[in-house]
Amino acid sequence: MDRLNIITIDGPAGAGKSTVSKELARRLGYTYLDTGAMYRAVAWAARQKGVDVGDEKALSELCNDLKLGFQGDRVLVNGEDVSSFIRTPEMDGLSSAVSRVAVVREYLTGMQRELGRQGRLVAEGRDMGTVVFPQAAHKFFLTASAGERAKRRKMQMENQGEEVAYEEILAQIEARDLADSTRAIAPLQASPDCIIIDSSDLTVEDVLEKVVTEI
Ligand code: C5P
Repeated sequence: MDRLNIITIDGPAGAGKSTVSKELARRLGYTYLDTGAMYRAVAWAARQKGVDVGDEKALSELCNDLKLGFQGDRVLVNGEDVSSFIRTPEMDGLSSAVSRVAVVREYLTGMQRELGRQGRLVAEGRDMGTVVFPQAAHKFFLTASAGERAKRRKMQMENQGEEVAYEEILAQIEARDLADSTRAIAPLQASPDCIIIDSSDLTVEDVLEKVVTEI
């Protein structure tokens, strides 16, 4: 793998990783890899098939049968466009639950490395710089205070016509961060060689400028 052309962007939920990663990939002419969407797709498939997230054998079979695809921004599971189904509060929780399971991580890590073989990739997730692409040339950890992330998420939901109390969103974000950062395998953490950017008081353009300057 060419060490020079993989950029990893890790961080907690709602820190602005997707917006920044997508725009960065667009500017560089790189491929954007949304690994959170992959965990969400597995969670959705598990729910469809009635597979319990605690049943490692059933999850292994599910992964073996799963045909996961990307078409631009769209996520396909066995040919079906599931993009809107995987972005619900239920899938926030369920994706975090399946992401703790070793066979699921092995399966998706393998697929992510395969997708990274051609390089020229902006890979977004929780363990991109630490586990999946430790040899990436540029590693970033994008974070923001939990309060700020909950505020942004609330605005995003309001734009989609959903009204959820700020306190509820904050509690969900904090619970998911805790689960993601304390799990046994590939927990959410900043790799020692990454650049940490706190976006609490920054605009998307500010963050992009910092990232591009570093690169
Ligand atoms: O980034 P997003 O919120 O879409 O990710 C959904 C969930 O997938 C996260 O809460 C996390 O548990 C899991 N995930 C992961 N490793 C990644 C990307 C996402 O464990 N590389």
